[in-house]
Amino acid sequence: MPDSSIPYSIRVSPRARYLRFRVTVDKGLEVVVPRGYDQRRIPALLSTNEMWVQTALQRVEQVRRLQSAQATETIPTTIKLPCIGREWYVETIASRSRTVTIDEPVAGRIVLRGRIDDAEKCEAALQRWVMRQAHDILIPWLGTVSREIGIPFTKTAIRKQKSRWGSCSRIGTISLNAKLLFIDPDLVRYILIHELCHIRELNHSPRFWKLVSAYYKPYKQAHARLTVAWRTMPRWVG
Ligand SMILES: [Zn+2]
Repeated sequence: MPDSSIPYSIRVSPRARYLRFRVTVDKGLEVVVPRGYDQRRIPALLSTNEMWVQTALQRVEQVRRLQSAQATETIPTTIKLPCIGREWYVETIASRSRTVTIDEPVAGRIVLRGRIDDAEKCEAALQRWVMRQAHDILIPWLGTVSREIGIPFTKTAIRKQKSRWGSCSRIGTISLNAKLLFIDPDLVRYILIHELCHIRELNHSPRFWKLVSAYYKPYKQAHARLTVAWRTMPRWVG
């Protein structure tokens, strides 16, 4: 009987009733055996099933290559937040962890650590960072503009929306899109003014626009620039 050289791990499962080969992206080839199984039988069974196992491993290898290609494509090397004129370098550190964590050990440097070949997990970590930044930057900013123009609001929320920069509810809750971080500060200011003016006028009537233009005159140009801004949004922001 030829000895198979395929590496595998063994998992004893109390629920398993017979030996099973399992091939996954995370673990490669895993041999699941019932309790008390005579593990000396594994090599022989492996060589009988070698064709199937090799095919499955090849498929998994393809997925891995694709994932790491996507990861290098999606993980930005730098992140710019034009709204505050700041920039961060993004570093990646691979580890055996199953998750991806993100932190900022020093100002201006973001570190992604863990399963950095997993594009989805990296994107999720970056998106968590964006949401935190949005809370820290946009909410105090709304407060400042609110005091400046003398229109108070009740509550705020940060969202990630596909087609609007912000919204204002009937009860005075202003929702701001985290993607505002990626646009020019004066456009952010326009959106904040626009939503605050909705507290007074919950519509887009001539009275509303008159109120807006009292605080931000070139709002028509702002609309044109905001349309362009959607298209320049980094893809990983989601
Ligand atoms: Zn509006």
